[in-house]
Amino acid sequence: MTRKKATTKDEVEVLLTSRRRCALCFGLRGDLGIKDGQVAHLDRDPSNNSPENLCFLCLVDHETYDRRSRQAKGFTPQELAAYRDALYASLATHPELLWMSGTASPHVRRKAKERWDAALYERQLVIYRATRDFMAAVVREGKVKFEDLSRFASATDEVVFLFDDDMSNYLSELYRKGVRLEYVNKRLERGDAAPDRPALIEEEGQLLTWFTEQFSVLLRKAVPFMRP
Ligand SMILES: [Zn+2]
Repeated sequence: MTRKKATTKDEVEVLLTSRRRCALCFGLRGDLGIKDGQVAHLDRDPSNNSPENLCFLCLVDHETYDRRSRQAKGFTPQELAAYRDALYASLATHPELLWMSGTASPHVRRKAKERWDAALYERQLVIYRATRDFMAAVVREGKVKFEDLSRFASATDEVVFLFDDDMSNYLSELYRKGVRLEYVNKRLERGDAAPDRPALIEEEGQLLTWFTEQFSVLLRKAVPFMRP
């Protein structure tokens, strides 16, 4: 029984950068599917483990690449390198897949990072605007409508991935106060002479004041994320 040799750091980089997409499947057939495969050596020398010499190939293509044939012209290292680089460039159009890994060229990585940052910024902006619009609706109407609450909740449910815990807790607090204000609004609209009516009127005023003050709080919390 043979022991499998340990995976080197460079091989791990190849697996991460290729996302287990085969360079020949992609280069010859436009196939970006995830494959069972291996890390191949472009120069067919298994002792040469420099990153430029490594490439992920599916099992079938690895077999084909390493086979020596007297009749057919085999694949050259230059071809494989070209297909590999094209694959990495293509994966760069999915920046969330690529920018954190290491073997792509610095240029490709920088481009991918820029696209990723731009996409992240857009999504953060959506959350910021939804929150600001929710506050504006509450302050404008002087009350919370159920539709505004649910729109706010669904537009901001990714906050935990796109901002930090502080922002996430803050939006939860906004939501909780919104739910409470909606309840207080409803109780007061009923117009019954409940004994706690004066307390509810007082609480409604306090909540509305609190909402009015949140525009600057939101801005202060969001700015560190939104500045390049
Ligand atoms: Zn393949």
